[in-house]
Amino acid sequence: MVDKESEQRHRNRMKRKKVVVDEKIANADKEQGLLLVLTGNGKGKSSSAFGMVARSLGHGMQVAVAQFIKGRNDSGEELFFRDQPNLNWQVLGEGFTWETQNLARDIETAQAGWEVVKDMLGDPSIGLVVLDELTYPIKYGWLELDTVLADLNARPPMQHVVITGRAAPKELCEAADTVTELVDQKHAFRAGVCAQKGIDL
Ligand code: ATP
Ligand code: MG
Repeated sequence: MVDKESEQRHRNRMKRKKVVVDEKIANADKEQGLLLVLTGNGKGKSSSAFGMVARSLGHGMQVAVAQFIKGRNDSGEELFFRDQPNLNWQVLGEGFTWETQNLARDIETAQAGWEVVKDMLGDPSIGLVVLDELTYPIKYGWLELDTVLADLNARPPMQHVVITGRAAPKELCEAADTVTELVDQKHAFRAGVCAQKGIDL
């Protein structure tokens, strides 16, 4: 049973909280295309980005996804989203560096991939662009950070971009509006569990 005094105290506290929250909401009245970075060693970067793909498609927006590095094309998200009419899905990687083992080809693939991304970033009809695992080609020096930043900066003002990947460069985080670092506290892989359908791929 909740006594009257506690009930009243709770109501007063919530009233004060509502004033603060309402004021914050009233102050956030801008509309703009956002740059988001999802980084860190914890699981959840790409899956969060695909959550935003689902949200955007739900609102009838045009979406483009560019996957760097990743060579496989049997992930659940790709199988699910591929048939969506408002979605342009591009796999621009050939797999992990330790799989390809060919530096010149990795550089060429990444740069050809960026040309595809530039077209996405130049198209104001696309409301959301996801650049999945983009941090790796930057980190390995296959793509110039300055070129990436300049092209992101020149995109249409209402276009959102989500970038995923570990170790996002400082300059990219500084350029972003929203940066989330996912922390790895525990991962089932280290307990010997292989990638599970629906969870990891
Ligand atoms: P997800 O696609 O599941 O959101 P992610 O994008 O955050 O993961 P990536 O670095 O892209 O993480 O790794 C993709 C795959 O590696 C997924 O199968 C994921 O479960 C797994 N993974 C992510 N973080 C870890 C980790 N800390 N240790 C081991 N495996 C991981
Ligand atoms: Mg990922």
